[in-house]
Amino acid sequence: MIHIRQFLVLDDNYAFLIHDDASGETAAVDTPDADAILSAAAREGWTITQIWNTHWHPDHAGGNAAIKAATGAFITGPQEVTRIGHAPDRIVDEGDTVTLGAHAARVLNVGGHTLGHIAYVLDAERVAFVGDALFSLGCGKMFEGTAPQFWDSLTKLAALHDDFTLYCAHEYTEGNAKYALHVDPDNADLLARAAEIAALRAEKKPTVPMTLGREKATNPFLRAPLLKASLGLAGQPDHAAFAALREGKNTFRG
Ligand code: ZN
Ligand code: FE
Repeated sequence: MIHIRQFLVLDDNYAFLIHDDASGETAAVDTPDADAILSAAAREGWTITQIWNTHWHPDHAGGNAAIKAATGAFITGPQEVTRIGHAPDRIVDEGDTVTLGAHAARVLNVGGHTLGHIAYVLDAERVAFVGDALFSLGCGKMFEGTAPQFWDSLTKLAALHDDFTLYCAHEYTEGNAKYALHVDPDNADLLARAAEIAALRAEKKPTVPMTLGREKATNPFLRAPLLKASLGLAGQPDHAAFAALREGKNTFRG
């Protein structure tokens, strides 16, 4: 049995610890704040044995060196993490499997936010750690990739079973909801979800994790093919609708 702990660090990043009872192993998924992550593990009585990085950004891999120094944790991540901080001990990409005790995580390449961004998919547990690729009601900024690449990445995540629980790395949902409602105003599921999100955030409660099924019904980026006509892009490829939505979000002032 695995246990997942999620806690807010920095301004709006989520840090995650995954603990496996049987082996006693604990993985930190990304390292936004080494001190906070080490303290959280200590509170649980867990020792971090692994780090799983999703991408190279400092709010995801910046704490690698400090956690490695404190615990000797084995670092797994994409090649691009060598750009900052402590390089991975094992470099992984799509098709690789990472294990925590007897629990396996499949690596997907979900590039677009950064070129080498990966997600960790625990099929048996129906859980995925998606970093900054997909957010609740949003997706990461397209800093390095292209729209066809990013769209392909989102398609891979959308292909998981609807009951998957997705852990994304930022609490951006309330802001994302404003843009989602702007581009998809008649979506009843989205209207209901936005109301729930406003209520949660009014009490400073997390909106993460989220379920994939609900995300597919409400996240405008996953719904890009359905929004083509309203974007004036009927007959265009799906990635063109995604590109238009991503571009629109960059300049949207809700
Ligand atoms: Zn990032
Ligand atoms: Fe980030």
